[in-house]
Amino acid sequence: MATFRERALAAASSRSSGRFCVEEGPISTYFGQNVFTVETMRKYLPAKAFICVLEARSSGHKIERDIADEIASGMKTWAIERGATHFTHLFQPLTGATAEKHEAFVVPGMNGIALEQFKGSALVQQEPDASSFPSGGLRNTFEARGYTAWDCTSPVFVLDGTLCIPSVFISYNGDALDMKLPSLRSINAIDKAATRVAALFDPEVSSVKVNIGLEQEYFLVDEDLYNARPDLQLCGRTVIGHTSAKDQQLEDHYFGAIPSRVVGFMKDFETEAYKLGIPLQTRHNEVAPGQFECAPIFSEITQAIDQNMLLMILMQKVAEKHHLKVIFHEKPFQGINGSGKHCNWSLCTSNGINLLSPGKTSEGKLRFLAFYSSVLKALADHGHLLMASVCSLGNTWRLGGNEAPPAILSVFSGSTLTKVFEAIMKMEQVDWEAGKKSISIVGSIPEIIPDNTDRNRTSPFAFTGNRFEFRALGSSANPAGTTFVLNAIVADSLNAFADRVAEHLNSGEEKETAVLSVVREFLTEACPVMFEGNGYSKEWQEESAARGLRPVNNATEAFHAFQEGPSVEVFTKSGILSRSEIEARVDVMEETFVKKLQIEARVIGDICLNHVIPAAIAYQNILINNIKGCHDVFGDEAQSLCKSATGTFREISALVNSLSNGVAHLVEVRKKANRADSLSLKASLYSTDVLESMSKVRECADRLEMLVDDALWPLPKYRELLSL
Ligand code: ADP
Ligand code: MG
Repeated sequence: MATFRERALAAASSRSSGRFCVEEGPISTYFGQNVFTVETMRKYLPAKAFICVLEARSSGHKIERDIADEIASGMKTWAIERGATHFTHLFQPLTGATAEKHEAFVVPGMNGIALEQFKGSALVQQEPDASSFPSGGLRNTFEARGYTAWDCTSPVFVLDGTLCIPSVFISYNGDALDMKLPSLRSINAIDKAATRVAALFDPEVSSVKVNIGLEQEYFLVDEDLYNARPDLQLCGRTVIGHTSAKDQQLEDHYFGAIPSRVVGFMKDFETEAYKLGIPLQTRHNEVAPGQFECAPIFSEITQAIDQNMLLMILMQKVAEKHHLKVIFHEKPFQGINGSGKHCNWSLCTSNGINLLSPGKTSEGKLRFLAFYSSVLKALADHGHLLMASVCSLGNTWRLGGNEAPPAILSVFSGSTLTKVFEAIMKMEQVDWEAGKKSISIVGSIPEIIPDNTDRNRTSPFAFTGNRFEFRALGSSANPAGTTFVLNAIVADSLNAFADRVAEHLNSGEEKETAVLSVVREFLTEACPVMFEGNGYSKEWQEESAARGLRPVNNATEAFHAFQEGPSVEVFTKSGILSRSEIEARVDVMEETFVKKLQIEARVIGDICLNHVIPAAIAYQNILINNIKGCHDVFGDEAQSLCKSATGTFREISALVNSLSNGVAHLVEVRKKANRADSLSLKASLYSTDVLESMSKVRECADRLEMLVDDALWPLPKYRELLSL
């Protein structure tokens, strides 16, 4: 009988040829067709309602109930024309995923007739049974009330016949139970603080927006091979698996020709994304085999985050049609690169000026320095918290390796800026052109002007000319979990900047002198966090410790960074999170960490007992028959003839014994951890004892994979999973 793996391999190979999607014509002809854009709104809403939505978006005006009815009515007409029969509030609970509860537009009319109805009250608010979502104790199950409320700053859209309404999720008392509300609060905080500083240079600036561009990395695996691996199905990653003889050593996958089956998938999900107004721009092979990346053009933060969450859903849906599975896990395969979600972050004024662009005038440069030094100071004061915000079980496997950002936060600015900063701190003449050069290339190829900054892939937080790129975010994460922290700490720092400038002005200094003085103070205070060297090196570990920078050693320790005094102050002062909301979040993070690891520990135990050991024993039976037969035919001579078979038999026996002892030990340490008095202690035991025990089990299983007959091995191997 064929093994599960053999059947899966046969199914996978039958569809290795490319499959292309239906061509839809130029992207511009269908871009955003399923989104209730401002243009569409203008067509479908009465003028008063239209203006109300715009005002609510730009300045947070409240939408009254009667206006909400008019808006809902226009939305319903449009959505039904786009094929919608249902609506849902789409929210982002603390699970990190999205949640939706669909309701039909239909209501019964007279005489058995049905009518389509969508009231303003349903648009503005829904009440899902909230008791099953994590709340970290903010809501008891007997007080299950939770509400979702429309976030009108993010456009509604139609997906699979449902009108989706981006929403926040709050408890009966108004506490944030989701990822979106703290994000919206942080956007307000940074808007106010950044406007204060920007207004020093231009009083016309009325608001400042955060723009982000999210680069999404992912793996693709054939659906049948994926389904033949219980670990991929249940944990999103392989808990055992020997590395392939060839994976990424030759660096031949990065930017290589995209396999035709994958191009078909990419075109298909891009088409769906364009219809939903997601401006995808780049696609390419990533470093690891089977790994890819896509990135949209940056946009306003709320839209960019919501679109990223939507994109992940779309990709999974479209992958089904191609018999593929998308893996967003941060480290699905040991020994090769994991996946991240680089977050490119910048600030832009209401009159369109990028505050992180050095600009050409001296005023522009001074403004740039004010903002840049404020970001540096924020990271010097709270870098540990920012690194902690990316912690999750999945990212624990990825961070700190020689491929992903190190666990210590530092900022890379590039040689030009570093020289500028040094000059400012030493009160010397600043030369913005020092270090700039152009590169001449032979023949007809035009001269290249290199970017303001060179690249440093080993830095977790790098300046890339007109924005910062934060590279530590995990590929599966809801980006809001990190960006709200970044916004919060920068807002705090910008307020401090404005306060100090005010002090200097009060003591009679001119504006330019006052600003430059504070820039100098901030740069000096932020020195420890500036680092241009190799973030992976051993020297940096030592040097960063000497500078007083704290690494984020493990996830459970990281979660507590949220509860430290300075963090609590930043969050509460700005109204982004209350003390109880912080505690609840830490609880949820710990609980999720423990539960996920519990599942992984069970899965590795099951796989070893039900797949690996039976395969090893089956091979031993073949070996023992061979040895026995050899003795029957060759007598004493068999001893030397069967040396290899006997040796392998013994080696497998030893490994099988270690493996089953290892699984028993894993069960014991798990039980012990489960008995811990507090959630914190439990999480800590899981992150040490349980993880250690799992890695010992894995080592035995992976060695057996190398010894057991390939024909008997029941699980698809890395080389099979990673070739498309
Ligand atoms: P990389 O070379 O770093 O892989 P990509 O082209 O893959 O770059 O992605 C860069 C991302 O940064 C894109 O989403 C892009 O739109 C975004 N980006 C560009 N300029 C800005 C900016 N000013 N603010 C925020 N994001 C930006
Ligand atoms: Mg990229």
